[in-house]
Amino acid sequence: MIQENLNFFQQQLAGTNCRLVTVTKTHAVDKLQQAYDAGARLFGENKVQEMAAKQPELPADIEWHLIGHLQTNKVKYIAPFVHTIQSVDSLKLLLEMEKQAAKHNRVIRGLLQFHIAAEDTKTGLILPEAEEILQSEEFRALRHVRLTGVMAIATNTPDEAQLRQEFQLLRGYFEQLKARYFASDDEFREISMGMSSDYRLAIEEGSTLIRVGSAIFGARNYQ
Ligand SMILES: *Cc1c(COP(=O)(O)O)cnc(C)c1O
Repeated sequence: MIQENLNFFQQQLAGTNCRLVTVTKTHAVDKLQQAYDAGARLFGENKVQEMAAKQPELPADIEWHLIGHLQTNKVKYIAPFVHTIQSVDSLKLLLEMEKQAAKHNRVIRGLLQFHIAAEDTKTGLILPEAEEILQSEEFRALRHVRLTGVMAIATNTPDEAQLRQEFQLLRGYFEQLKARYFASDDEFREISMGMSSDYRLAIEEGSTLIRVGSAIFGARNYQ
């Protein structure tokens, strides 16, 4: 099952500019190993403790992406290995990432998470907040953090027009930030959007990272 589902996504993404983040939250390590054996290399978890517990059990060449809200006091638990924190929503978090990454003499990548959904429960920055961060002296002094793009979670709706509008909004933010702050930085190139239910639209609207869990592993059991 896992292998067939991953093969399906690998085929969907072949020849596109988009890569798959296999969302492994709630699943046991043997399932993650099966996904790895089927070719998955980018893994997404939304909880620090869960990611830190699984990482030592699995091959070292996995790129670990944190996709859930991150409290600053927990950065230290994943700083030795995390590849990208997709949920960067404050300067305070960036400063803590810098401090912890420096301790391990490495660079942690980050995506700025934006609020694009209609529901106001969804977290994330608005454009002026992101610009305030990018214009700050403190941001420009970071040496162990590298922003590589943007991320957002769309509204949970079957309404394709609305989803497209939200994905276009995120892409617009990306284009603006790219032009204003990262024009000569080739590594600022990621637009992380699209999940099991809406990844097709997200790819059409320019996603470079889809985050897919249930379409690969089946429904999650949170017990
Ligand atoms: C769980 C999760 C996903 C994957 O959701 P599925 O619907 O299972 O594909 C993607 N992004 C974030 C931020 C998540 O928390």
